[in-house]
Amino acid sequence: AGSFNKANDNDVTELPNVADMLAMDIEINGTSFSLEKGEFSQYNRSLNLKTGELCRSFQWTFKGESFAFKFRRFVSFADLHLIASEVEITPLSGNAKVIIKSGINGQVTNSGAQHFEEGEKRIFDREFLQMLQTTCESGITFVQNTYHDFSASSLTMKSRFEMDRRKVLMIYETEVAKDQVLRFSKLSNIYTTRDKEAASMDLDALRTHSVEQLKAQAAKSFDSLLSESAKEWAKYWAEMEITVEGKAFDQLAIRFAQYHLMIMAPKHDARFGIGAKGMTGEGYKGHSFWDTEIFLLPFFSYTHPQIARSLLEYRHNTIAGARKKAKENGYRGAQYPWESAWADDGEVTPVWGAVDIVTGEATKIWSGFIEQHITSDVAFAVWQYYQITGDEDFMVKHGYEILLDTGIFWASRLEWNEEKQEYHINDVVGPDEYKEHVNNDAFTNYTAKWCMENSLFYQKKLQQENPELYQVLDQKLNLSAEMPLVKERFDQVYLPEPNAQNVIPQDDTYLSLKQIDLTKYKNQEHVGSLFQDYNLHQVNQMQVSKQASVVMLMYLLEHKFSPEIKKANYEYYEPRTLHDSSLSLSTHAILAADIDNLDLAYSLFERAARIDLGPKMKTSDHGIHAASLGGIWQILVCGFTGVRMVGGELRINPKLPDEIEGIRVPLRWKGNKLSIHLTANFVEVSNLGTTSVSFSIYGKQQQLEASKTLRIKDYQTA
Ligand code: BGC
Repeated sequence: AGSFNKANDNDVTELPNVADMLAMDIEINGTSFSLEKGEFSQYNRSLNLKTGELCRSFQWTFKGESFAFKFRRFVSFADLHLIASEVEITPLSGNAKVIIKSGINGQVTNSGAQHFEEGEKRIFDREFLQMLQTTCESGITFVQNTYHDFSASSLTMKSRFEMDRRKVLMIYETEVAKDQVLRFSKLSNIYTTRDKEAASMDLDALRTHSVEQLKAQAAKSFDSLLSESAKEWAKYWAEMEITVEGKAFDQLAIRFAQYHLMIMAPKHDARFGIGAKGMTGEGYKGHSFWDTEIFLLPFFSYTHPQIARSLLEYRHNTIAGARKKAKENGYRGAQYPWESAWADDGEVTPVWGAVDIVTGEATKIWSGFIEQHITSDVAFAVWQYYQITGDEDFMVKHGYEILLDTGIFWASRLEWNEEKQEYHINDVVGPDEYKEHVNNDAFTNYTAKWCMENSLFYQKKLQQENPELYQVLDQKLNLSAEMPLVKERFDQVYLPEPNAQNVIPQDDTYLSLKQIDLTKYKNQEHVGSLFQDYNLHQVNQMQVSKQASVVMLMYLLEHKFSPEIKKANYEYYEPRTLHDSSLSLSTHAILAADIDNLDLAYSLFERAARIDLGPKMKTSDHGIHAASLGGIWQILVCGFTGVRMVGGELRINPKLPDEIEGIRVPLRWKGNKLSIHLTANFVEVSNLGTTSVSFSIYGKQQQLEASKTLRIKDYQTA
């Protein structure tokens, strides 16, 4: 994470695929082993979410001879640098000559784009392989080491060393008798000159350090390294496991989501965020989007505040780039990039995307230019984190500056409409990316106005409570000149109002666009099928949405909309939304629960859970969907268990679908750990913390002292 590089001037920066230390070539009796040859049976592949261990086993038969294979591997949760695998090969029909070619393979690219200059390769003590590569633009050197251990098998191994272009390998050869197990492990580690711990080392020192570390690990067995890692996982699960009583798949879905949320989080470094695909694929190039703030942050703020803080510090670290972006566009304050990578990269959204079915040319991606709601999303997440955790230290060091400077941006971004005598926000892309160049996108306008309001609130608060900090920020952000403008303009920001049917227009033209029969696309096999028939220009002219937009607004700023308005808007926009973004289903599931359509809420939850865990194996080809996994957590916690922070207060209004018998949710609220147990008949809240906590359940205010439990029966009517 964080090792961003630009392969060439025409590309945007991205996370490079690093040299492969897991792959190995196995040759048996003169045939190179591949599952594409011969036959295989008893195939089993499993990921143990409790320990992080991935196992694969099968029997392979080729030309009448059978072999049993077992592969185990993990990336350590105890030592971020360590990757370990163990292999077992057992000939089942007769003796076998086995050759294993394994090492570090740098012949990898990002779909053809080469990010590395080849560096030195060498071998230490005849068994520790090392390869260096340096990213061609950002100049980050990767130091990778690997080591093989055959001591578990009492077999005589012949070995030799081979170097090739971008490759350093060991070749092991042995004879294995029928039913004898050839077992070996491979330990590898990876360091970069961008690692925090490398800051005090020169490259030579880092090379030595990394090999020494691997030598120390090599003294331990695969199983003991796995158990060190599993111990860290055990701590995590003991602290934060959610239990779902009902279908086993639902329990699995949330465990799978929580597992991924943990492995994608950079808890050790605030210089980078989370990519839209976590660390699991090339999709979206490792860039951070609003996905982090709106879809992932709630999970971290409520369960791992230190990680949430690190992610928000990252946004503070990138504020200079945000100011630069505002300035380049003729605005002031901080305008966050739609896609973000290394702190000083600024905007990194690519300019060209998918093919246009009509012209045959590539479609221009406008998000980097005009998808501006990201600035409000960042401010929203800062505010939400602050309300959930009460972390004043974060606010003083980072948060207030973000809240003030984003308010300043919006005030400068507004456009005066002489005719209507109000401020508009024209020519944007809102969350629904099927509408480009729209005026007064509801989500953008409402959240921008909220951002300005919030900045005014915190300006006042700082002036009264922390004048020293106010002075510092005044000098830095020119508050004395900027904030009066925020105040003056705030009241005149135009907000699209509900029409006679209570529907808020998504933007100035949406409700007057033509409507087409969307049945085919609502029932599509693959997302984005609309673009097999229309191009984006045509889609812009239709009442069809890619993802939650007005519905998302009703979720984030829920206190601003009555239940009737929420219902009317949900019912208007849901049939027009194709959920072509994986970000959409979770928001629609939560809002369906809010409007008491629990059957729909549950079915949307089931669909969301199957994005990365369902039978359609190709949906995750470019990587898992980080925001969707955060969304699954939000459906269970913010939707079904009904946990929300509304205007700074904790509210628990459960909405449990019939298919789920109960949910147990651990969470933190202002430093106290709470445990909520929900069934159809009662909700029980335990305060496992040290101070009293107040919250409401269906409008009734509750005060729960430390170490106390409150149980409310028939909560909906109580
Ligand atoms: C969605 C965006 C999202 C991005 C990255 C796009 O398809 O429309 O809302 O931020 O993917 O996940």
